[in-house]
Amino acid sequence: MKTRKFRTRLLSLFAAAFFGFSALLSAAPSAAHGEYVNPYTTLRIGLYYGDEALSSANLENSVGSGFTFGYFDQNREFHAVGETDNTKLTMMKDWTMYLSGGKYYDEAPSGSYEAIGCYHIRVNREFYSFAEAKEQCAGYNNSFVAFHNGAWYVCAGSYSSYGAAETAAYERGIDGTPMTASSNCVTVVATGTTEVLFQFDYGTSASLAVMPRKDESGENPQTWFKGYKYYGAFQYARLTGKNITVVNFIDVEDYVKGVVPYEMNTEWPIEALKAQAVCARTYAASHINNHASNGFDLCNSTHCQAYRGTNAAGEGSDRAVDETAGMYLTYNGELCETYYFSSDGGATEDSENVFEEAIPYLRGVADPYEQYVNTGKADWKFTYTADDITGILKLKGYNCSQIVSVTPEYTRSGNIYSLKFTDSSGKSWTFKKYNASSILYSNTYGKYTYSMHFTVTTGDGEGGTSSIYVNSAADTLDTSEPVYAIGAGGERAEIPSSSISVISSGGTESLSIAGGGKTLTGDKYVISGSGWGHNVGMSQFGAKAMAELGYSYEDILKFYYTGVTIG
Ligand SMILES: [Zn+2]
Repeated sequence: MKTRKFRTRLLSLFAAAFFGFSALLSAAPSAAHGEYVNPYTTLRIGLYYGDEALSSANLENSVGSGFTFGYFDQNREFHAVGETDNTKLTMMKDWTMYLSGGKYYDEAPSGSYEAIGCYHIRVNREFYSFAEAKEQCAGYNNSFVAFHNGAWYVCAGSYSSYGAAETAAYERGIDGTPMTASSNCVTVVATGTTEVLFQFDYGTSASLAVMPRKDESGENPQTWFKGYKYYGAFQYARLTGKNITVVNFIDVEDYVKGVVPYEMNTEWPIEALKAQAVCARTYAASHINNHASNGFDLCNSTHCQAYRGTNAAGEGSDRAVDETAGMYLTYNGELCETYYFSSDGGATEDSENVFEEAIPYLRGVADPYEQYVNTGKADWKFTYTADDITGILKLKGYNCSQIVSVTPEYTRSGNIYSLKFTDSSGKSWTFKKYNASSILYSNTYGKYTYSMHFTVTTGDGEGGTSSIYVNSAADTLDTSEPVYAIGAGGERAEIPSSSISVISSGGTESLSIAGGGKTLTGDKYVISGSGWGHNVGMSQFGAKAMAELGYSYEDILKFYYTGVTIG
């Protein structure tokens, strides 16, 4: 709201200046300088959760040096409670599980299988360390260490019922109690076997976490999980008391190494990759607890940011992350929303002209760089008949008759702002902002509006370019050119001109934007555009072009994000 007031005031001043009155412009708010310090250097990334939570999850240490068992506290600090030299683990819910053909099932599969019962004989003695309990395991066949509510125990056998465990305790002569753990319990077995290695049940206080151990090289170890390789530790939480939510606890820099390759080609110039790395890191830091109800920060899909571990990481993307380590994009000391998209086709757009909110650093800029690279979407054109438009609107649920006219309005940057369709009965439908760019996108018709950067003309070529009328339609300014207000002291400020007002002796009057407001009629409408995406924030192809032209990642970020600080 603050921004809107500021802009309104500026517009009035512009109008005054334009009509020959002197005007003093207030200085733009200056950005605060200073480094942003991310308090969350460990991120929690959800890999399987909700309906996709798993009954069992495997994990393999790629350097073959085993794992440490433990849990993360509220401050995301790891507390060790056990360990194994085994390099291939499967974490499973404490449940009667079945092993068949090398896979685990939580219901008996058809064919032959081995069962891993969830009833055990717990030896009647509490231990004060993992090592102490582990030593005692030697005295019992099929035994393992269990961490139950803050203490260590020796458990023997895995039985499918309480009675079976009770009988076994008697027959084996063990001074122990048949038991099954809580619905929060997770059991660890050696992958591909029924051998239990460890059990963790801390009720709702904490969930099992497994941290790969380093080998002698001291290198940051990676683990394999379902075909992907990851840095960091894994947490196995049974939030619902049922299946396991798998969360990767990972250092923010390692996380960014797993995001950049999914957002930008790792062969692109290093400065473009560095700009992308800062965006990805900033996005993560500003979306801590995005999935708090599932116990993690960000998911691994495009809902948050695509992240699949390190498989796709390249030398360039890793280097880009290392060389920008700890760098965040801020505006007035606060983390930015780092919107980006593929290509702008010539101009980015003010955030409020695409989405709702006016964000001060998401301003439209004319982009002179993108033209130097092949975006694959530099020039696209689709002809829509009036029938096509009518059909598309009907398909999208609008109860219209034959469409007879189209009225486009454009922003100062020459991007689409609104599209109004009028039907033969005189009824009309207006689509604004992002909806203006998406309403005519139709897979059924094979016609696509790929970005905000397009114009509508009739089959005869009428319409198109937008411009600002000042005195009359014959005396116009081209709105693709920036408009400035000049103050009495010579200060210059660019005027955002999506709605410009003039103060005259008779009060306030509006200036109109040409193309804007002009109603086009006919049987054919030609949509000519360029670019791909929503046009707010950084153009990735523009970043590539700038990098190839010798600009740094800081130049790139400051070009696409107005008035930001990098640090
Ligand atoms: Zn998400």
